Amino acid sequence: TKWVYSFGDGKAEGEAGMRNLLGGKGANLAEMSNLGLPVPPGFTVTTEVCTHFYAHERTYPDDLKDQVRGALAEVGRITGKRFGDAQNPLLVSVRSGARASMPGMMDTVLNLGLNDETVEAVAKASGDRRFAYDSYRRFITMYSNVVLGLEHHEFEEALDLYKDRKGYSLDTDLDADDWVKLVGTYKTIVETGLGRAFPQDPEEQLWGAVGAVFESWMNDRAITYRELHDIPASWGTAVNVQSMVFGNRGDTSATGVAFTRNPSTGERALYGEFLINAQGEDVVAGIRTPQDITEAAARASGSDKPSMEKAMPDSYAELVRIYGLLEKHYRDMQDMEFTVEEGKLWMLQTRSGKRTVKAALRIAVEMVAEGLISEDEAVSRVDPAALDQLLHPTIDPDAERTLLTKGLPASPGAAAGEVVFSSEEAEKAKKDGRPCILVRVETSPEDIKGMLAAEGILTARGGMTSHAAVVARGWGKPCVSGAGTLRVDYAKRVAVAGGKTVKAGDFITIDGGTGQVLLGAVGMRPPELSGEFSTLMTWADRVRRLKVRTNADTATDAKAARDFGAEGIGLCRTEHMFFEPARLVAMREMILAEDEKGRRAALAKLLPFQRQDFVELFTVMKGLPVTIRLLDPPLHEFLPQGDKDIAEVAAQTGLSPENLRRRAAELHEHNPMLGFRGCRLAVAYPEIAEMQARAIFEAAVEAGKATGEAVQPEIMVPLVMTKRELDIVKGRIDAMAKAVTEETAATIDYQVGTMIELPRAALRAGEIAESAEFFSFGTNDLTQTALGISRDDAGTFLDIYRKKGVFETDPFMSLDREGVGELVSIGIERGRKTRAGLKVGICGEHGGDPASVVFCHGAGLDYVSCSPFRVPIARLAAAQAAL
Ligand code: PEP
Ligand code: MG
Repeated sequence: TKWVYSFGDGKAEGEAGMRNLLGGKGANLAEMSNLGLPVPPGFTVTTEVCTHFYAHERTYPDDLKDQVRGALAEVGRITGKRFGDAQNPLLVSVRSGARASMPGMMDTVLNLGLNDETVEAVAKASGDRRFAYDSYRRFITMYSNVVLGLEHHEFEEALDLYKDRKGYSLDTDLDADDWVKLVGTYKTIVETGLGRAFPQDPEEQLWGAVGAVFESWMNDRAITYRELHDIPASWGTAVNVQSMVFGNRGDTSATGVAFTRNPSTGERALYGEFLINAQGEDVVAGIRTPQDITEAAARASGSDKPSMEKAMPDSYAELVRIYGLLEKHYRDMQDMEFTVEEGKLWMLQTRSGKRTVKAALRIAVEMVAEGLISEDEAVSRVDPAALDQLLHPTIDPDAERTLLTKGLPASPGAAAGEVVFSSEEAEKAKKDGRPCILVRVETSPEDIKGMLAAEGILTARGGMTSHAAVVARGWGKPCVSGAGTLRVDYAKRVAVAGGKTVKAGDFITIDGGTGQVLLGAVGMRPPELSGEFSTLMTWADRVRRLKVRTNADTATDAKAARDFGAEGIGLCRTEHMFFEPARLVAMREMILAEDEKGRRAALAKLLPFQRQDFVELFTVMKGLPVTIRLLDPPLHEFLPQGDKDIAEVAAQTGLSPENLRRRAAELHEHNPMLGFRGCRLAVAYPEIAEMQARAIFEAAVEAGKATGEAVQPEIMVPLVMTKRELDIVKGRIDAMAKAVTEETAATIDYQVGTMIELPRAALRAGEIAESAEFFSFGTNDLTQTALGISRDDAGTFLDIYRKKGVFETDPFMSLDREGVGELVSIGIERGRKTRAGLKVGICGEHGGDPASVVFCHGAGLDYVSCSPFRVPIARLAAAQAAL
């Protein structure tokens, strides 16, 4: 087997398509080599070695060592150096690189190959002894931490102590002799800590580092990240070994990261940061605040440090050339890492850049205009679920603002919450339902859970590509990073800026769009959708087959949904209309009535309310289909609870408390979700269905006259299990239609259909379709009844079921395709066998879940219906399903 793939010198054994085998980084390094770009030569140890490593008690395939030796020799040939050579040593970096990018999750070792002997050779060859020993101490620190398991701070403390003694304040104050002495101290730290000397044999160093990368695949940070991003552990990571190039060889050297377009806004301009005289990890770690790449960005940020464009014009021009080339080649926005070594630019990485959804939309739409991609590709480039981020509020421009400090606008959107200083506090606040902002000096992968729990993230240190910024942007969570004036004191649990202090628990608001940090909870404004959004949606609408309707109970919801592009109402839950105080009284009177006469009297009071509701709904939805569902909830939900409530209802309704209590006891249920609800209400008390039908028909006539557009209501009967139930209720509806037609002399065009929410209904769909003119799958109840899991109480064990792999996702959020999905497919097939072209939709929560929408497309549904804010998500998901 081939375990090792070489690259460099204008060619490579791999290419971009071999991501599964070589990992993202390795595949793209190979691709860049093939494109003739300046890539330091190296090789990739494949992900299959990682798999082998874990399958064989952490050992390697037999022939791996030989293959690595051969690849190293090839790197030596290209560079004119030799690994471990005392005269002209080859130094390498060792980096992880999984199939999916896992920023900051895995460990890296730089400057590998240095020892007491080779360091002198590097000093001589470079003519720079300070550089050689600075690199050596960096290597000892990194290697000891990543491979040998020693703590980083032991070395940091030794360095601080040394600086104090010498009266230095900056690392740059140290000269060659200082670093030589510190290297000695560092080696002693290792010996004391481990009881053995720092490894001097480069070969031993190399295998130590390779092993550490494979080990890091199973560290806690990596496992957490994989869980959050649904990355299977079986993928494994590759290891990239690459000849070192140095960004820390003085002022003509630098290291940096750049995006080919702005990852927050999508603007087409080279965007990034670099540090002069530094090594790669310095930028990502956010320890020094970096400089801008372009002069325009430097001017915009008001930075007093020169941009790369100004400080290194030749390297900058080369970077611009390469960036154009990479975008054309990959036809996507790239995120690149580079190093300048004594004026020569080297590319260390390229990959598709993570971006906010706002940026994703703009980039996709502009790339179509630039002729880089097609409209269909643009549609496929935006993650439907991420559209949610666009719907984030921003700070009301008219709101009063008290500025605490300002940082970088690292991830857009505004968030308010109480200040917490640790991941644990953030998780606790979330659990208690208190929104919080996580405030840290800087974040590291250990903080992931807290970052997830917080509404927003604020850091004192770190740039736009720091850990906090990258992670927050990926999640669409507001973040302000690098608020330099902020002093965070974890021990006292306070943060201070500009003379103002906030304590843990105080409210602050962060504006990830401007970088402002404000005192208190500041007023917010609902989001606005950009022109690119509507353009992309138009393209999406052109390709999709599925219609998208909304679940809306009020004119306000319906209006919002129409603005989001809803093509009708797929579910109006009428019970939601009865909870207003005035209506609740009549509703309770109806439920608690002793006989039909009492019920009819109460229903007569509800009729005008209902009619008015429907008139409004039909008016907003002018010309679009509206599905109204008859009363569905367990009566139980409306019953008075306790003596006080009963006394109140008695006073309001004039019924005696005695009778009320008895009636409530009669109606009490142990399992209300499987109880007296759905069409069972209408079967038992047909007068309820009659009142609702009358309200619908009268409203249809009224709205039809007012708008001049015929209203065709679809009346939906819930929780049907037999055809007979539907027939009983349908009989009353049809009779009412006739009555209203006679009274108003108007023609009423309507349909009666049913929800399919019970397994029996799905199985008997063939005969139910004899009466039903349409189906709508209520997959909330269908999931509950097919799985036998209460939709209200499943929270207690669903998490455990997910962790133990029983469910991949919560079946109430994403449709269980194999089980519930099969019932849906059976229902459609049998229903349409009886009634060709039967209109079928879905109105459970799943209608707004992208994966479920894909299923609905495949299953042949006519439409999905979801809550108003999910309508754009469903439109885009439906389009992607059709591509
Ligand atoms: C359903 O059961 O999927 C449904 C849409 O109805 P409800 O959620 O109101 O029970
Ligand atoms: Mg239901």
